[in-house]
Amino acid sequence: MSDPIDRKGLAKRFWERKPLNKLSDKEWEALCDGCGKCCLNKLEDEDSGEVALTRVACRLLDDETCRCAQYPIRHQFVPECIVLKPENLDTHAYWMPQTCAYRLLWQGKPLYDWHPLISGDPDSVHKAGVSVQGWTVSEFETPEEEWEDHIIEEPI
Ligand code: SF4
Ligand code: SF4
Repeated sequence: MSDPIDRKGLAKRFWERKPLNKLSDKEWEALCDGCGKCCLNKLEDEDSGEVALTRVACRLLDDETCRCAQYPIRHQFVPECIVLKPENLDTHAYWMPQTCAYRLLWQGKPLYDWHPLISGDPDSVHKAGVSVQGWTVSEFETPEEEWEDHIIEEPI
């Protein structure tokens, strides 16, 4: 599969040399590994604040490509979908998937070798079994009271 994210012409390992708030838009976008896990529905424990991801996917997620089927106009259908930016990462990092590049860098951790920026292959995230490819269930067909039965272990 060709890479839907333009990662050409970027400085080698730019994420190790610049803080997140100094990245260009292109560098910021290139950090996304394309796993699709941030498009899974989550359950949050009100008391402990713990977040669990479920295999119940957002209605717009295509779990073959692991991409949003309507990204440019998604807010018409899913108004609550966030636009992640360096300025709001502090607010959102706690619920982001544990393998998410934004969360890893926010925590001061390195990226995994399967990240397309390191492997040079957009499919390496799928080959490593880290993406949602082929294993989500529909939120239309899964009532919210059953989401607990679909909690996934992380990192996978
Ligand atoms: S979890 Fe992070 S790396 Fe994966 S698709 Fe979402 S933003 Fe990209
Ligand atoms: S609207 Fe698109 S980007 Fe937002 S959570 Fe759903 S599938 Fe993901």
